[in-house]
Parts: sequence; C-alpha cells; structure tokens
Amino acid sequence: MTAVQIKRFLCDWPAWPVASSATIKNTIDCLTSGRWAISGPRGETVGREQIFADEFAAFIGTRHCVPTTNGTSSLVVALEALGIGPGDEVIVPGVTWVASASTVLAVNALPVIVDIDPRTLCIDPAAIRAAIGPRTRAISIVHLYNSVCDLDAIIDLCRSYGLALIEDCAQAHGAAWRGRRVGGWGNIGTFSMQQTKLLTAGEGGAAVTNDDELYRRLYQLRSDGRSRVPTPQPGEMELALVGEIQGTNFCMSEITAAVLSAQLLELPGQNEYRARNAERLTTLLAGIPGVHPIQALPQVSERTHYYYTFRIDRDAFNGADAAMVSAALRGLTGAPFQTIYPPLPQHPLLKPRTKARFVVIDGLESLTKTRLPEAERAYEEIVTLHHRALLAIPENMEVLAEALAYIQQHPHEFLSEKSAFLVNPL
Ligand SMILES: *Cc1c(COP(=O)(O)O)cnc(C)c1O
Repeated sequence: MTAVQIKRFLCDWPAWPVASSATIKNTIDCLTSGRWAISGPRGETVGREQIFADEFAAFIGTRHCVPTTNGTSSLVVALEALGIGPGDEVIVPGVTWVASASTVLAVNALPVIVDIDPRTLCIDPAAIRAAIGPRTRAISIVHLYNSVCDLDAIIDLCRSYGLALIEDCAQAHGAAWRGRRVGGWGNIGTFSMQQTKLLTAGEGGAAVTNDDELYRRLYQLRSDGRSRVPTPQPGEMELALVGEIQGTNFCMSEITAAVLSAQLLELPGQNEYRARNAERLTTLLAGIPGVHPIQALPQVSERTHYYYTFRIDRDAFNGADAAMVSAALRGLTGAPFQTIYPPLPQHPLLKPRTKARFVVIDGLESLTKTRLPEAERAYEEIVTLHHRALLAIPENMEVLAEALAYIQQHPHEFLSEKSAFLVNPL
C-alpha cells in the first residue's frame, strides 16, 4: 500500500449548509424591513414567520404549523400541549438525540426508553407494547437517520391503549409513509432546523398538527401565552395579550423564517438528488461481503437521508467495529462517516438527577441502567454518512464503495488498533 494508492480515494465533498441566492435576498430584505420578530408590529405584509408556517404546513400536508426556536422547544411544547406532566410516562426510542428524553424530563414526566427494531434502527413496536403501563400517556417516536418508524403498528398501539403520538421528524423533512408526509400521522409532529439537518437556518424548529385545539395550545405555549391575531393591520401587533394557558417564549425570529422559506424551495430537489445517490451507493455496497445497507420499510413512499446507514458484519472486517471502520473510511475518503448515537441510557448527555425539579419524577434510578441489546449491537455495527456527502457528484459514490472494499481487503493497515493509518490519516 503506497500513499499514491490510497490518495486516489480522497474526494471533494460539498459543504453544508448552502446559502442560495434566494436565501441571501430574503435575509437582507428581512433585515432592512424593520421587523425582526413576530413580537414587533406588523409591516406592509404579514410576518415572515407566519408565511413560513403556512408554507411548511402545506409541504408536510397538515392543517397547522407553529414555528419554534429549535427542535427541542418544539418537543417541549408538544408534550405540554398534550397535557403531559408529573406522574406520566412517555415511551421513547433507545437510539436518538438526547432531546427525546430530556424534553420528557423537562415537563417532569418519566421517559421510558425501549429498544430499537434492527431493520430500521427506529423504535420497535413490540418493545413499545411491552413497556406500556398504567402511567403511559404518550409515545415520542423518532424517524431516525434514513428510516421511517413502523407507523402502522405504532398507530394501532396508540388506538388500542389510548395513547398520544408525537412524531419527532427532526431527521426526516419530506419523508412519506403510504404517500403522506411524516409529521401528520400522530397528534403532533416536531421538526428541527439545526445546522446539520435536511432543512436548516442554523437553529429553528416547528410543531405541526391537524388538530385545531392542539394548534391553539401549541401557539400560546410558544408565544408567552399570547394568541394569534388572524388578520392584523399594518402597524398592529400579530400577537394579542390574551390566552388560556401559561406559555414560554420559544418564538422563531423573522430572520430565521426568511432563511427557511428560501431553503424550503431547495429541499425537494435536494431530497431527490440525495435519494438517487443513496440508491446508487446501496447497489454498490450490496456487492461487498458483510455489508448491509439499512432498507426502508415497504410502506415508505418517499425516503429521506439525514444520514445514510449500513450495517457491517464485524467478522468480515477483521472484528473491527463501526467506530473503526468509519474512522478508516473518513481518513481515506474525507467523507463525513461516523457511528450512530450511543444507546440513550448510556448517552453522555443524559443526566436525569442533576436538576432540583426532577425530584418529583418517580423511577429515575433505573433510567441510565436500562440495557438495550439491539441498540448496543447497532452502536457497534452501524456506519453512517452525513447527507452532505450525498449531494456530491454520483461518481463519488463509486469511490466510497471502492474505499470500503479496499479497507476490507487490507485489514492490517486499516482495521487494527496498531494501524498507522488510523493514527495518522492522510
Ligand atoms: C436535532 C434533533 C433534535 C433537537 O433539535 P434542536 O433543534 O437541536 O433542538 C431532536 N430530536 C432529534 C431526533 C434530532 O435529530
């Protein structure tokens, strides 16, 4: 193996996020308009925040959308709108960002963490069923990486047991199940527009719903309890000082909304481009022994790829785990490969006993001790690739597959603790 041999795998990878000219124009228009927040008086046109809300609801196919500061606050207002609090349990998946659990703690309820379905890496409906008890009020599911949860099975469970469903779509802007976008299948769908996501303004979020009453509650909960004035006149306020419920300020700024309206125009084309490259990559990887791309369930009619994912048989890689294989791939190709999140109970950011108000939550002792065999196995076997790599030229997908085959054929150079390459990549 020579430096020349391995240098051929190094590719150019697109940056993320990308500011389109419409993004720059919208942002400047907003900055010079004199209105930077929904809490400022209305100008000549309706607020950009409401414009984005209407556009995003139309894109997802729900009646309503309430923009928020970020994905975490959209989950908090979703739980609050559903009336979840002390004494309640919310079932969450064992592989996800820490917000799935921290937002349940934030409303003083107990997250009950259950194992994943190895086919999708999303929450396992059978594990949900086993965890349902007298205190269970809701399920907060996540359409993870490039999967959609088994919504048919989960919705059946919610109906049978009278549970609310929150769909966290922070990783699935535009994915569809049986021809309908995710976000509108449960009671409330939540989204994040953080920097790495498929749709982004750096920070941002949204909660969507088809339920008029939940919409009113969500709106007030994120607007300091204020209600929306349906048709404010220029110079008037868009938020009225009336409401029925104690709120908090999680309002999205006009500048963020200006960015998102422009970015949303790009999203369908980007999703399509990424899906084509992902299919190409899947075909190529399927030819490598011991490599299994994660497939979508048959009901997924539109697939998004926040992260592309594949499973490795460790035996086919000299016993190496996903951390080692992704480090080798990263070093060889320059592409953003990494492992999945650690199992949620062992996630380094889950610290359920560090806030005074959490003492009202029963059952915290076992939270970080929960063992989840499939989540633990997935952490060792699943390699992920961030979606910006799927925006590259199609030829780069061939290089990725060649690099993985090369790594497999040269285990001593790439897949041993002593590998000089891992210590000192190109
Ligand atoms: C990113 C993410 C969040 C949190 O969103 P923020 O905008 O960072 O607050 C929540 N859930 C999932 C699944 C995410 O990927």
